[in-house]
Amino acid sequence: MLPKNPSKGLILIAEDEQMIRQILRRTMEKEGYSVVEATNGKECLTVFENTQPDIIIMDGMMPEMDGATACAEIQKMPGGEDTPILMVTALNDDEMVHRAFEAGASDFLTKPVHWAVLQHRVDRLIKARRADQELQQLLADMEILRRIDRELGYTLEIQRVLDLAMDAAVRRAAAVACVIGWIREGTNSLQRLAAIGRPSTLIEPVAIKDLPEIYPSIYKVFEERKKTIYETHINENSVQLIIPLTLEGQVQGFIGLEQVPSNYLNKEDYDFLTYLASRTADAIEKVQVYEKSQLRAEQMRRLHRISSEISSHLDHNEVIELGTRGEAHLLNAPCTFYCEYDKSENILTVSHVFMSIDSPITAPSIGKIFAINEYPTLISKLIEGPVQATITDEEQANSDDGYRFVKDLGVNHALIVPLSEKENLLGIIVLCQHNPEREYLSDEISLARSLAGQVTVALQNATLFHNVQDLEQVKSEMIRMASHDLRNPLTQVSGYLHLMIGTLPNLDERQEKFLERIKRGIDRMESLIEDILNIEKIESQQPINWTPINISALIRHVSASLKPQADLKGQSLKIAVPETNDMVMGSDVQLAQAFNNFINNAIKYTPDGGNVEVRMKFEDEKAHFEVVDSGYGIPLDRQDKIFQRFYRAMSPGTEDIEGTGLGLSLVKTVIEKHGGGVWFTSEEGKGSIFGAWLPIAPITEDIPTN
Ligand code: ADP
Repeated sequence: MLPKNPSKGLILIAEDEQMIRQILRRTMEKEGYSVVEATNGKECLTVFENTQPDIIIMDGMMPEMDGATACAEIQKMPGGEDTPILMVTALNDDEMVHRAFEAGASDFLTKPVHWAVLQHRVDRLIKARRADQELQQLLADMEILRRIDRELGYTLEIQRVLDLAMDAAVRRAAAVACVIGWIREGTNSLQRLAAIGRPSTLIEPVAIKDLPEIYPSIYKVFEERKKTIYETHINENSVQLIIPLTLEGQVQGFIGLEQVPSNYLNKEDYDFLTYLASRTADAIEKVQVYEKSQLRAEQMRRLHRISSEISSHLDHNEVIELGTRGEAHLLNAPCTFYCEYDKSENILTVSHVFMSIDSPITAPSIGKIFAINEYPTLISKLIEGPVQATITDEEQANSDDGYRFVKDLGVNHALIVPLSEKENLLGIIVLCQHNPEREYLSDEISLARSLAGQVTVALQNATLFHNVQDLEQVKSEMIRMASHDLRNPLTQVSGYLHLMIGTLPNLDERQEKFLERIKRGIDRMESLIEDILNIEKIESQQPINWTPINISALIRHVSASLKPQADLKGQSLKIAVPETNDMVMGSDVQLAQAFNNFINNAIKYTPDGGNVEVRMKFEDEKAHFEVVDSGYGIPLDRQDKIFQRFYRAMSPGTEDIEGTGLGLSLVKTVIEKHGGGVWFTSEEGKGSIFGAWLPIAPITEDIPTN
């Protein structure tokens, strides 16, 4: 390939007269032009094709092919239209002038040639051509940049961005190969992002510190923070270009162009490549930010999914298994395992292992023990947070306990995530990687840590649940025993008391009062025992022998049975319960007991002469029940415990009302066992509404309507 910009310009002189040719050559060469010659019209075409001159000085009258015809032929050749042709004609040869202009000549001169005029014309034409070429080039550059800008602006695919940039750079520099290198986030190593044409540079990732030795020319733009293109002469014909890719003044990567012809590029080319590099760096960053945010969003989704799965388990082993697997899924680790820490023995024992199907790593076997006194600083480091180690640096591997531990695991890279509770280490989850390049970034480590936190909480819950379950069982057993053992003597006391009352003669008023108090005390104890045994029975009973129950009939029946009680207190008891055939599957004894407690409470906690209303409606395949009273109500600060066992919300007016604090607890247990729910609203001094809903059983042929 010819140099792109020889001397002031290359002139093709097409002239049959040798004398004139020579004078022309000398004159133009003196002015700093290069000259090629042709002796006739035909030769002119060949020389034009071979040399692509900047201008042609063409004699009109030539043998073989005259100037006007040669001019017309050149227009058809590549680059012909853009090449100015200065036609030299004989004086008064108007016809030739016409033909020449028609054929595409740019200007003409008449013989005898006035040298100063010729020079001036050639200068002007070449300048005009150069300006035109530059404009064309500028337009072409702008078009490419516009395209790149647009495509880079739109595309969020890294490969597409890189292909576009490499394609534009290679074309512009006439390079044979191109490579784009970029520093991997969070590391100090430079790796190949993309390449075309088999470049010899950066085949393997390289640590920045090794650049001076391995790639000194790339090192120049990194370490010297060069913002300009760095050029190295490879041989006399070609150069290598390293174009820095900078973000906020920091060199983040480079575009390397190999085998660029020497002296091929001009200033505009360098400007173009510099601009291209700046747009490419921005686009890479944009895509990486986008990809990272996508990845983080996906990881957050995974974390959420795994966390909620873990928190719904209350078994120690299941939690650990989910945690070990979860960490692998969260951060794409091919192999993870859990080690339990035994503080007294100072050992870590492998208890759970997860390996993906294609894991290149084999996890240590279950039961394997690591004696921690061989890594004395490891535990204190883990109490502070996760430890990450990559086995690439032998020296470091020997000096650091974390590194030595990972090395003893036989993997290239690992992240050790502690499960700790304050200063106590419970265990560790180890995430292994085969590829030492896959170091975890700080936000990935935070994710792993956050999951480990959830696992720790779930483990604590599992332990708590285990203990509570044991306690709950002991408590139930004790209550059951106590209630049974109390019931018999109480029945005896009650029986003898009745006998005494019936047989003792002439009791005075005081004695009768005492006996009455004993009787009330016994009654209370009996109903307390009755309630406790009822609740225990309901809680332990399975829903066998459940039948379809006509719920509105049941509620009407219960309400009616409580009417005398309301009458005794002079209350109005309104029963607004429609007659329907809606059925609820359940135990009629239990449900009757529950609604009895609700309505009974309304009567009990409403002063004499008040109002109680029982309502029922059917909606959304549910039976909705509520009992409204105009009673004492419940103070706001006592409302949240109202359904707890033995809780009694004493308020002004209700101090003397007897009760066990077990009624509402029984209601809640029964209704929830039947797949429904309870609720209430209450205002002190105004009254309360207690409500419940139950699912209506789907209608089938078999359900009898009782
Ligand atoms: P108790 O045997 O004390 O009635 P419950 O479990 O049935 O036990 O009720 C718990 C507490 O809730 C009662 O002690 C009372 O303070 C309050 N309570 C229940 N129902 C009503 C109501 N309709 N109006 C006001 N307070 C109520």
